[in-house]
Amino acid sequence: MGREIIITGITLHANGTTCYHHCRYCQLRSYKTSGVLFPRYLALIERFVAWRAAHRPDFEIWPWFGNSDDHDDETLEGVQRIDEMQNWVSRNALLGGVAHRTRTEMREWLEKRRRLGVDTIVATFSGHGDKHDYWNNMPGNYQFQMETLRLARDMGFRLQQRVILLRDNLASLEALFDELDGVGGADSERWSLPLFYSGLARRLEAERLTRSDFEMLSPRVRASLRSDYANWRSEREWIEFVRSTPAEAEEMAVDLRLDEEALSWAEARSCEEVVVELSEKWRTAYHAAPSRQELCLVSGDERNDRVYFNVGQMEKAWFDRYRTTGNCDFDLRSTHFF
Ligand code: SF4
Repeated sequence: MGREIIITGITLHANGTTCYHHCRYCQLRSYKTSGVLFPRYLALIERFVAWRAAHRPDFEIWPWFGNSDDHDDETLEGVQRIDEMQNWVSRNALLGGVAHRTRTEMREWLEKRRRLGVDTIVATFSGHGDKHDYWNNMPGNYQFQMETLRLARDMGFRLQQRVILLRDNLASLEALFDELDGVGGADSERWSLPLFYSGLARRLEAERLTRSDFEMLSPRVRASLRSDYANWRSEREWIEFVRSTPAEAEEMAVDLRLDEEALSWAEARSCEEVVVELSEKWRTAYHAAPSRQELCLVSGDERNDRVYFNVGQMEKAWFDRYRTTGNCDFDLRSTHFF
């Protein structure tokens, strides 16, 4: 029972900027914003960054104001400052969750981001045309993203095209790739990946690709699989992996999910106190939670040929099966099973 964990960092998630989409495969549990105001969030991050510099240079801080990149001007500049504090080199702006605007408005939207150093525009597709709009759950989003990619290309941005692979959209991928090839763009890149096992997507196991589905992909879809494809495994393969891998202490970041209450709680404490209190809660929870080996033993299904891209994703699926019958007498929110 239980597992040892080593706390290596903290995620500071605010869910502060509205996501205007409602994807059926969303990795989040809810699209609702937390109501956290950016100036207070920024002050917290600045405090953590200063604390790290003074006391814990190895400690990781993972800020995320989210839910989308459709920030207002003040937040946009503040998010950029956070990236600089973190020495993050990513210069991406995501179209996921962005409200539909006219071409002129999108040009301005893109220009604003370019002035702040963005050089790559990222669009995620879940099929061609109506198929994408169904999964994205927003009529017209396919067209909006395609037009924005063309505009961004003409303005000299790099393009990144991400494709969510679902059993339901496989037949539409050739048409999607044809259209994306037509967009072109210098330095554009494309990668495809299966569903996350998190948020709303936890309910979509029937859409998860199996090993045989991957084998049937056309050469150009196969060529677009994300660079870690060699590490993706079916459940059957993850079971073998877990059985043959000795249990050891696991490194992880604790999550501080910021809403009004959690922010006030953190503001009333030093960074050291926040980290110590959260770490204690997480260690206690993981000590009482089933170990990975136990989850695998109790919930693993060797008949399942569906593919998960890391063991953490697989484990969440095992946990969801386990919790229907097993002992869950621990603080679920202080784990990554939440
Ligand atoms: S755009 Fe992203 S955050 Fe918004 S609903 Fe879709 S997957 Fe979720």
